[in-house]
Amino acid sequence: VRASLEKLGLTKTDAAQLVAGFPDEFAKAAAFLDRELEPQRSLEDLGSSAQQALVDLNLEYEAVMRRMEELMVENERVAAELREANAKLSELAATDSLTGLPNNRAFREALGRELARSQRAGTPAVLIMMDIDFFKRVNDTYGHAAGDEVLRSVAQSLRGALRAGDLPARYGGEEFVVLLPATDLAGASVVGERLRHAIETSPVALNDGTRLAVTASFGVALARGTNDASGVFARADAALYAAKRGGRNRVAVEASDAVEQAVA
Ligand code: GH3
Ligand code: MG
Ligand code: MG
Repeated sequence: VRASLEKLGLTKTDAAQLVAGFPDEFAKAAAFLDRELEPQRSLEDLGSSAQQALVDLNLEYEAVMRRMEELMVENERVAAELREANAKLSELAATDSLTGLPNNRAFREALGRELARSQRAGTPAVLIMMDIDFFKRVNDTYGHAAGDEVLRSVAQSLRGALRAGDLPARYGGEEFVVLLPATDLAGASVVGERLRHAIETSPVALNDGTRLAVTASFGVALARGTNDASGVFARADAALYAAKRGGRNRVAVEASDAVEQAVA
């Protein structure tokens, strides 16, 4: 106000005097107009209260922001705990809660039964291990929720491409397994290729509209006349590793001499 008055040609002192007189002038004007007015505060006084209010507001804003950051950290922690609790729950039950597929424990039980049956009947069975390619990138680029969506979609592709009697399961993380009863390596290689193709041609639709191409690698191992489940897992895993090394998005079938050696 003082600066504006100075612009109008008043000296600094006159302007200051005029401003200091405002409260009295207002009171007089009010009396003249027959109005009751609260005692008038000086402009200096009003200015400094406004400034104080601004400082208070700023402090309050910072406190709210700090609290919000704390809540976001807390939220992340609770979400991680929930994921862990869900994984434990899935482990206890027979079904993986994310994909709806049988879980690792249920699969191992089924594999044990199938190996015993196959030993008795003298028919072969096949174990396929599958691992999604570059899955860490999906999580890192699109977030964990998108990663989960990919896992659900891949599980759906597996289900859709298998026959009744074949048993798919979520082995853990982004690894899946399939048990093919009464199947040999040649037949399993065809199934593996069908699964690989199903995943490659089923892009995952993310919430934001992105369509994400996903591929997976497969390792195929034969179980004939053995009840050594760990051995079959190890051979399937070795074949899967070969598929990864060979460039991913492929099916690697273990060499038949590896089978002969394992079974001999
Ligand atoms: P590679 O082609 O060699 O298999 O590469 P990769 O990135 O798939 O392999 P890596 O083992 O480095 O990454 C696996 C990732 O899977 C790391 C882990 O955070 C993620 N993962 C495991 N379980 C889950 C899950 O339940 N949900 C999500 N979103 N991610 C998971
Ligand atoms: Mg993996
Ligand atoms: Mg992987």
